[in-house]
Amino acid sequence: MVAKEETELVRGMHRIFMAGLPGYGHWTTDGDLGLAITGTKSQGVSAHIAREKNPCLVCHEFAHRVLVGEGEQKPNYRRTVDPTDMRTQRQQLEEEGVTFFGGLADRRLRVSNRMLREALKAASPPPSEPA
Ligand SMILES: [Zn+2]
Repeated sequence: MVAKEETELVRGMHRIFMAGLPGYGHWTTDGDLGLAITGTKSQGVSAHIAREKNPCLVCHEFAHRVLVGEGEQKPNYRRTVDPTDMRTQRQQLEEEGVTFFGGLADRRLRVSNRMLREALKAASPPPSEPA
């Protein structure tokens, strides 16, 4: 990955994913990730995950667990690393045991913005380390 792309948002997403959240059979939303990392519902989360040119291999493993709204699948979701994999987000989550009700993923399995923020805090370097 090019260093320039290492924005606060992307760094934060990678810290959260590398800490293993959301884990198998769980999900979060792009808005929750943005809120946990930058304090706003940044558009950058989905843009980074969905980029087709030079797809991000860190985010790839977690992309299907990042839903939109209150747990809907992304309307134009594609697997960027393996475009021959035609499974939808919902199919992939259902394979992990997530049930959908009226188009929304089971909210008991949602990793909230608060949980993401705590994981990020635990995974972040101490403040003395230069940025
Ligand atoms: Zn990434």
